[in-house]
Amino acid sequence: MPLFGAHMSISGGYNKAVEAAAVIGFDCVQLFSKNSNQWKAKPITDEEAEKFQFSLRTNKIIRPLIHDSYLINLASPKDELYQKSIAAFVEEMVRAEKLGVSHLVMHPGSYTESSESEGIQKASRAFDEIFQKYNDLIQTAENRKSVMILLETTAGQGTNLGSKFEHLRDIIAGCQKPERFGVCVDTCHIFAAGYPLIEKEDYEQTMQKFEDVIGLKHLVAFHLNDSIKGLGSRVDRHAHIGCGALGLEPFRHIVNDKRFQETPMYLETPKGATMIDDKEIDWDLANLNMLKNLQDL
Ligand SMILES: [Zn+2]
Repeated sequence: MPLFGAHMSISGGYNKAVEAAAVIGFDCVQLFSKNSNQWKAKPITDEEAEKFQFSLRTNKIIRPLIHDSYLINLASPKDELYQKSIAAFVEEMVRAEKLGVSHLVMHPGSYTESSESEGIQKASRAFDEIFQKYNDLIQTAENRKSVMILLETTAGQGTNLGSKFEHLRDIIAGCQKPERFGVCVDTCHIFAAGYPLIEKEDYEQTMQKFEDVIGLKHLVAFHLNDSIKGLGSRVDRHAHIGCGALGLEPFRHIVNDKRFQETPMYLETPKGATMIDDKEIDWDLANLNMLKNLQDL
């Protein structure tokens, strides 16, 4: 069975995200390590990190995943933003390491007034600098795993990189340490970017494309979101599972795909509650139940 989770709020503490995931019945959780719309954040204390780890253990939540700040743009041609983004991403890695989280997911960035190929090169160079700075900061113990970076597929809004599997392949291949990367596939994003998923044949072809370009062994997480907009719209708007342009079929293919039976899948669908049979049901729970119902017994 795949591992299901969702992005959860850290308001009140990192442990709150874990507890909220456990209440719904998730296996895993995604969270920010700081306010995602601010550059600065207070350092994480030992106590916060211990509380977080304790809540993972006691609630049996595995595969925590940190999502980076939306401000970071490692493909920016503007030097000030580029340097600030590099420093902020090093900080994201340090915070993930402090919390004991082994995976950090990020959007590869926007090339704005430069070009696709320049943006890709910038991102690769940024990661080389980031790993250097991170290694200088963290005296990684021999047996401690360093944080793995998951590049996320994007819808390709504006000049966002990541709407083609080739973008991610080239960013990773251009780095000195390609082994430190994996990929997170967002169902809403790849569909909006133009990869069909609904018909079984189309789904298989899209996965084959991923296999050919990046390799499915590098697909280490999913973001499961339906899409408000259609195939190739390049608009990033998430919808509840089965309530958007994707419908239920793509999710049926994914949750039953033998290749992904141990892959964590995180919902990033809107929060709140809905009425089902006169009962108020949390949307995360409704979406989780929907995914479970799609699984072949
Ligand atoms: Zn996502």
